[in-house]
Amino acid sequence: MLNLPIYLDHAATTPLHEAALAEMLPYFSREFANPAAIYTAGAECREAVERAREVIADQIGARPEEVYFTGGGTEADNWALKGLATKPRERRHILVSSIEHSAVLEPARALIEQGFDVELLPVDSQGTVDPNEVDSRIQPNTLLVSVMHANNEVGTLQPVAEIGRICREKDVVFHSDAVQGFCKAPLNVNELNVDLMSISGHKIYGPKGVGALYVRRGVRLGAFMEGGEQERGKRGGTLNVPGIVGFAKAAEVASADQFEESERQSRLRNRLIDSVQSSIPNARLNGHREARLTNNAHFCFEGVEGEPLLLALDMAGVYASAGSACHAGSTEPSHVLMAMGLSVETARGALRLTIGRSTTEEAVDYTVERLCEIVHNLRKLSSSATFA
Ligand code: PLP
Repeated sequence: MLNLPIYLDHAATTPLHEAALAEMLPYFSREFANPAAIYTAGAECREAVERAREVIADQIGARPEEVYFTGGGTEADNWALKGLATKPRERRHILVSSIEHSAVLEPARALIEQGFDVELLPVDSQGTVDPNEVDSRIQPNTLLVSVMHANNEVGTLQPVAEIGRICREKDVVFHSDAVQGFCKAPLNVNELNVDLMSISGHKIYGPKGVGALYVRRGVRLGAFMEGGEQERGKRGGTLNVPGIVGFAKAAEVASADQFEESERQSRLRNRLIDSVQSSIPNARLNGHREARLTNNAHFCFEGVEGEPLLLALDMAGVYASAGSACHAGSTEPSHVLMAMGLSVETARGALRLTIGRSTTEEAVDYTVERLCEIVHNLRKLSSSATFA
């Protein structure tokens, strides 16, 4: 039986996994002690945090002391850029891809005010950064390169390992925002050649408001938050113990069936893409056809505006988005689609459908059927408005 509504916005957030919730609950009540406290209850909370750190470190092939808990992906991204810039630096040049999440683009912009020279890396029409572009744009005074692992709107996977190899050869710090890719496929910081990597809890069926920044040993990063000795004095503030243990549990659960679940989701994603493209004329798939997140399908429909499309889908019981959740309600076309060379008109008709653990074949087929009718009706309306 088909259960409505159908949630196809897993890139925006995911529901909390029941195992993560069960892991968190005692830390809201019985195990409430401050993990910095010296007595037994404090030590127990501290141990829970350190166990969680080991789990997260293990997932990404890092050492536990290289994992710093944060208040989510946005904080991890901000810290990567600003933390690097707060140390006295000879180097003032920063390369950032033009399709980054605003959690990277905005701090990069703020660094311009501080005298840094920030250069945007272009992408091709599928949203891929060319490693040769990175190579040719690195200067002797380049401090940092930041290229995301997978784009949150169009789902394109970046050649992160190759870009990281170039950065390493040229002695440039490399940051990657892996918020979307974490737990969808194995992510190993050594194979990816990253020095800094951001991840977040609520995209992997963990709690919201918790994430982590991986900081390779030897990278000089300034503190993000002063005022406490937590996180080795780099991120002061009483630790979010329930959030941290829930985050680690969610990562553990995801890794247990990562391969099977990614295979299942990519089959559904392909079914979705193929049936949209065969049943709706002039449906454009955005992003790379193969090198894309296993759960992401992103389209533009010629002659259709995004907002009425999303509202009509909502009325039909399908929850989707135009792209980044952070820009919901914005009338500006997506900077990602603009960087990929789409026209403003085309970009305004964007639809992102992101699959998750609960998505079924039936749900995909229902969505495509409704989408077909909605696009047809909206096109009819707009052509009658044009000729009225
Ligand atoms: N980076 C990317 C690529 C994202 O998709 C998101 C969330 O949408 C973030 C960063 C921000 O993460 P958080 O919501 O945990 O602050």
